[in-house]
Amino acid sequence: MQFERMRPAQIRRAVAQGMPFVLPIGVQEYHGEHLPVGMDLLAVTESVARLGDEVVVLPPFAFGAASHAVAGPETMGTYHVPSEVILPFAQAMFAGLLTAGIRNIHGIIHHQSENFLQGMPTDLAFRLAARNAVFAHLETTRGGGWWGAPESADYYADFAEGENPFNWISIHPLLPPGADYPFDHAGKGETGLMRALAPETVDMGALTDEAPWYVADAHEATPESGEAGVEIILAHLREIMGLA
Ligand SMILES: [Zn+2]
Repeated sequence: MQFERMRPAQIRRAVAQGMPFVLPIGVQEYHGEHLPVGMDLLAVTESVARLGDEVVVLPPFAFGAASHAVAGPETMGTYHVPSEVILPFAQAMFAGLLTAGIRNIHGIIHHQSENFLQGMPTDLAFRLAARNAVFAHLETTRGGGWWGAPESADYYADFAEGENPFNWISIHPLLPPGADYPFDHAGKGETGLMRALAPETVDMGALTDEAPWYVADAHEATPESGEAGVEIILAHLREIMGLA
């Protein structure tokens, strides 16, 4: 379900049921001549769309910190927004969702997520924004000293059971760590995902001898090879969101 297409009563029902609210997070970045510039975002939006009515999909955040590591803006496709600009925006957005009573929020990102444990600028901005928003919400609603108060005596036990406020918002990589699927930039892995998820956006004929090094194995990608990756992604998403 797309959030922006829902009526208030439908949203209230989803919140009451504790349904996951998914925030697709992406960038606009050059992915060779054969893939769309929104590859990293489309991999997320098209995957979560397959979860259908089991989740509420928030309007995606499309302009992350792409960096100009791959290509400059003049190449057409890469538009970098610094993480320090994203941080206050993301924090305000999360604050609004928490104030509305939404408590099961999952940001999903593919861009640069192979190094997720240490973090990269876009996911770090959203992760810090989430932490800041939760702390601010708790201090506003429960007052200073909320953690030290007697009502918080079960804090550690609650955390294990997933009741903890710091589980209200979590940010995850699209592919699970160590997945048996190639993680690359516009190579066989990402080209396969697009051939499976958004085939109309791919032009395999644009893979020429002048193509950059990172697309060298892209010609090996097929809709079937990509579909194997999508299956891994969907199993991962279902697990982290507790879906059957
Ligand atoms: Zn990518």
